[in-house]
Amino acid sequence: MMEVQTGVREVDLYINGKYVKASNGATFAVKNPATQELIAQVSAATEADVDKACRAARDAFEQGPWRTMTVAERCAKLRRMAEIILERKEEIARLDAMDVGKPYLSTVHHEVPRAANNIKFFADFIEKQGGEVYPMEEAYLNYTRYEPVGVAALITPWNVPFMLTTWKLGPCLAAGNTAVIKPAETTPLSVSLLGEIAKEAGIPDGVVNVVHGLGSVVGTALTTHPEVDLISFTGSTSTGKRIMKNGADSLKKVSFELGGKAANIVFEDANLDKAIPVSIQAAFMNSGQVCLAGSRILVQRTIFDEFLERFKKAAMELIVGDPQNEDTKMGPVVSEAHYNKVISYLEVAKEENATLVCGGKRPQLPDYLQNGYYLEPTVYVQENHQARICQEEIFGPIVTLIPFDTEEEALKIANDTEYGLNGVVWTENLQRAHRISHHVRAGTIWVNCWFVRDLRAPFGGFKKSGIGREGGHHSLEFFTEAKNICIALS
Ligand code: ADP
Repeated sequence: MMEVQTGVREVDLYINGKYVKASNGATFAVKNPATQELIAQVSAATEADVDKACRAARDAFEQGPWRTMTVAERCAKLRRMAEIILERKEEIARLDAMDVGKPYLSTVHHEVPRAANNIKFFADFIEKQGGEVYPMEEAYLNYTRYEPVGVAALITPWNVPFMLTTWKLGPCLAAGNTAVIKPAETTPLSVSLLGEIAKEAGIPDGVVNVVHGLGSVVGTALTTHPEVDLISFTGSTSTGKRIMKNGADSLKKVSFELGGKAANIVFEDANLDKAIPVSIQAAFMNSGQVCLAGSRILVQRTIFDEFLERFKKAAMELIVGDPQNEDTKMGPVVSEAHYNKVISYLEVAKEENATLVCGGKRPQLPDYLQNGYYLEPTVYVQENHQARICQEEIFGPIVTLIPFDTEEEALKIANDTEYGLNGVVWTENLQRAHRISHHVRAGTIWVNCWFVRDLRAPFGGFKKSGIGREGGHHSLEFFTEAKNICIALS
């Protein structure tokens, strides 16, 4: 295992194969949300730095060899990249635990291996792709080619920094594009390693660039840059709207995965021994900072009291603590600003007369975590599904239980939201499982499970949860231009 450096580290921009300081020398501070300890000073890119990164990516795209090398050669480098990620998985997970506050153990065992697989999967997948042939009788023959688009801006959020970045980077690079990555300013540490990992894997300079800084500065510079052809973004719905406006003048292609407010619907015939632990995970994994969180739990009234008692007990038993400890199940939320947003909903819930079941305050913690941004797993009951805590994406360890009587009512509540990323259904009735899955307006429906992901399957949102799909050929459609070639045969 690589030792993770302690103390304050310096994190620089990665442009054209080199780590460099910002052109004006500016930096910003990154803190550990469990302790508020300063952990990094990060170079804050200027517009000129973003311009350099975009031009490096453009040159690497136009002049090759990334785009022009054989697919086999490109994919071998990507597979090597995946291996290096696995070789460095402890280091990457420690960094994510340190600046996101997410539990180390699940990061090292689940997220980082998934990140490696994101790269390997798309290398394997693209090698097996063909195209279409459309003969026009004996006169003409059409065939298709899928060519890279150009320079991609990959803008990623702070909740799952490394894994979500590789999810975009895998198909982007496999298809022959070049990339400028912008991780979130609160959590830049692990993503910054992608520069050296790409270099060690033999990926040419300029193909992968990483710029750091505020969304309003660096994000804007990137999404308005004339050399950027496409933007893949995961983050909030409001930022998605801004990016779309900023990218409109230069007509950039966009793929957005935005907010969510998933309904987790528990019917009276559900297997509660499974539904309760998975619903706990869906509510509190990563301190609820997951766009797929099952943050509205709709429970049929006939089993409501039983569900509530068992769910409350399980929520109160969750071990909240230092993300670096192996028994910790829930850490802090990511930053002071986010903590203030999350706890503001405690007031909102009070004003809306929601019933507090458990949580709603800071947990008991050892002294060294006293400054951390912690909130106990918090459970409310709210009969009015139009209340703000049932409608707005809180993105913290706060979950609301909403009772319902009939299937029809459950569907109405589930769909009465501006979001449509995912839904969860618990029932042992096969017909009902299909019926509800067909009628919930969301991009992914999990039946009797949650968070299970097959990289071949489409992933994305209905309504204000996104535009486009990631996964398998859906990712490749975004990261390629389809070309039709028509040959006259006589
Ligand atoms: P949050 O509001 O939870 O911080 P955001 O959606 O704002 O989430 O952040 C996701 C990513 O989008 C981050 O990398 C952030 O820096 C970036 N971002 C924020 N504002 C903009 C913008 N105007 N243009 C491009 N990227 C942005």
